[in-house]
Amino acid sequence: MDVSATPESGEVHKRTHEKRDGRKLYLYGWAAHDLPVTAELEAASPPRPHLRWHPLRGEWVAYASHRQERTFKPPAEFCPLCPVPEGGFPGEIPFADFEIAVFENRFPAFHPDAPPPPLDLPLRGGTATGQCEVVVYSAEHGGSLAVLPPERLALLVHVWADRYRDLLSRDAVAFVMPFENRGEEVGVTLHHPHGQIYAFPFVPPVVERMAAQFRDAPVLADMRQSMGEAYDIAGNEHAVAFVPPCARFPSEVWVMPRRFHPGPWTFSDEEAFSFGALLGETVARLDALYGRPMPYICCLYAAPKGEDGHFHFHVQFLPFLRTADRLKYLAGCEQGAGTFLVDALPEQMAARLREVTP
Ligand SMILES: [Zn+2]
Repeated sequence: MDVSATPESGEVHKRTHEKRDGRKLYLYGWAAHDLPVTAELEAASPPRPHLRWHPLRGEWVAYASHRQERTFKPPAEFCPLCPVPEGGFPGEIPFADFEIAVFENRFPAFHPDAPPPPLDLPLRGGTATGQCEVVVYSAEHGGSLAVLPPERLALLVHVWADRYRDLLSRDAVAFVMPFENRGEEVGVTLHHPHGQIYAFPFVPPVVERMAAQFRDAPVLADMRQSMGEAYDIAGNEHAVAFVPPCARFPSEVWVMPRRFHPGPWTFSDEEAFSFGALLGETVARLDALYGRPMPYICCLYAAPKGEDGHFHFHVQFLPFLRTADRLKYLAGCEQGAGTFLVDALPEQMAARLREVTP
């Protein structure tokens, strides 16, 4: 990696390992990784995702129906993201320890060698070229962004920057989105702290709408300027976290760098450190709000290819609790019409998130 990063102006180390089925595994750390390979999972069958065009919505739908892995029979309580000691049950990361690990998803919606779509479709098909990766934040099975130390959060920002550079350099990739689904309420079955990265062969509709707004005006900076600090929940020298005045989810929070950046790949080391620390504090505040881990969807929105001049990088946390024990469901109005109904005022939620003790 070409970075000389923060913790004690250390350097980010990156080791590349190829799994049995050719999938890449990257080990990132403040320390060089030189542990021996332990037990690897059996090779997965080649993925065959494809795209179909939705003529009413004018957008792609991705299909990733893969054959069941017949030979893969893990023991109960098996976590494929945990480190694997010598003689242990095989896992996705066949090393006894690591800092942050990134590997190609076993069941991807997009793949570099995706086959052409089936010939007999009754509508337009497309090739699902791209990549899907899993980002494992820690060798520890428990924990979350809220409790990772600041050095690890800074490393995570550097990892995202490296993945953006790599994936956006590929001709077939138009947009890259790191994201995290958290909590059983949003369908997460693996509790080991991790996120994902999707590299899309097209700009997906939500992002295309954002990009169109950014082409017209610096909408995010304009909104920040007119909202003042009443919506801020936390901040530091280089980054700020706030409830957007147009929040669609009850305790929605956005985190953005104070200076314009198209993505974390243009951050200085200090900015990466500040940004990581604020992401951690944001999740800690969301968890403190109802005294339980907040289920959420967290998305990183960086510039699609060619939009670097105006698309303002930021992170959106979309939390799914309305109260300590009631979920926010996306029902008829949200799913069927695309219009959100919210019963909590953003300025009130901002005050509560500012006042909670993480
Ligand atoms: Zn685990």
